[in-house]
Amino acid sequence: MSDAIVIGAGIIGASCAHALALAGLSVRVVDAGLPAATAAGMGHLVSLDGNAAELALCSDSLTRWRALAPSLPASGAYHRCGTLWLAENEDDLATADDKRAALAMAGIGSELINPTRLAALEPLLRPGLSGALRVESDAILYAPRVADWLLESVGITLERAQVAALEDQKVYLADGRRLGAQVIVLAAGLQAGALLEGLPIAAKKGHLLITDRYPGRISHQLVELGYGASAHSGQGTSVAFNLQARPTGQLLIGSTRQFDTLDPCVEPALLARMLERARGYLPALGELNAIRAWTGFRAATPDGLPIIGRHPEREGLWLALGHEGLGVTTAPSTAALIRAEVLGEHPPLDPLPYRFERFQASAPAAAEGRR
Ligand SMILES: Cc1cc2nc3c(=O)[nH]c(=O)nc-3n(C[C@H](O)[C@H](O)[C@H](O)COP(=O)(O)OP(=O)(O)OC[C@H]3O[C@@H](n4cnc5c(N)ncnc54)[C@H](O)[C@@H]3O)c2cc1C
Repeated sequence: MSDAIVIGAGIIGASCAHALALAGLSVRVVDAGLPAATAAGMGHLVSLDGNAAELALCSDSLTRWRALAPSLPASGAYHRCGTLWLAENEDDLATADDKRAALAMAGIGSELINPTRLAALEPLLRPGLSGALRVESDAILYAPRVADWLLESVGITLERAQVAALEDQKVYLADGRRLGAQVIVLAAGLQAGALLEGLPIAAKKGHLLITDRYPGRISHQLVELGYGASAHSGQGTSVAFNLQARPTGQLLIGSTRQFDTLDPCVEPALLARMLERARGYLPALGELNAIRAWTGFRAATPDGLPIIGRHPEREGLWLALGHEGLGVTTAPSTAALIRAEVLGEHPPLDPLPYRFERFQASAPAAAEGRR
């Protein structure tokens, strides 16, 4: 019998398994190989500041990714490219300055860039932008490969199996086997709801598109300042410009956010809207070849923060779920919080804003802890 079973080998489950194994626990990881957000997403390691708890998690995680970076395999494609938050007008510049101040409070350096400097940094951006906020410490990585490496590097062999049911300190597999452990970590992303009733998690569909290889054209992750509002919106369909230069020279273009659908099909009208928005920032995109478009589903909670920590009623069950569009960024701190709680150590940051209890009937307002 192992000390811990982790359900789900996406970036969250793999990070939790890695952290628990490094703490000396014997860890078993089971994953059903279902469509996963980790394989679909963008891998931007970004400091988002929608509220104090989100920023705290991003800030702590980015520090952890930087510490891990020298050990990551080349195929993990970690690259500290920095983010440019693009301002289209004076209002955006004011938002950029607010963001600069919020990041500074969390110890994250950033600088306002004027239009001339912006054009020098990214010559393909359209003329007439009002400037940008540059966050140099942001980075990118290739999350599916990093998730695999997190397991390999601590000697964990992934078991391909579907968990059919959970009981206190027991896991029932679809093939009839029963596994037991002191600690069970549920990191099954959007599909966790099939194993545990009452999880407040909804799907947020996103479209992405990738081009052929065009090396050397873009250096930073480019994001419009309105992206934050799109990312934190709790309803409706939204489109915001977000572009990443992959180490291959391919340009990865996003993104959309949609509720109320589980249909994975690429929707041409929405994809066209997303690309039109991208072309508004980078007119040269219209001359490039796209090679693939796809969709993925983010697992979103009502307040936009993940659920991290011990289940209040189920013996031996920990939750690491609902990371929406930030799970790659925030995986290391999620794992550090789980490790601290499992081992009874001092947590690396205040765990309260992420606890499942905030959604339970007697809890104070779910938004507590948010700015
Ligand atoms: C379009 C898009 C863009 C994104 N861009 C970014 C970004 O730039 N930066 C960022 O930080 N984040 C981004 N994200 C979010 C990020 O990808 C997710 O938050 C993160 O991957 C969630 O990881 P996870 O391990 O919780 O879930 P998943 O990756 O979904 O993994 C869950 C795993 O659980 C397994 N599983 C489920 N049910 C069972 C079961 N019953 N038994 C066994 N196994 C099971 C599945 O097979 C799966 O492998 C993006 C997401 C999308 C969709």
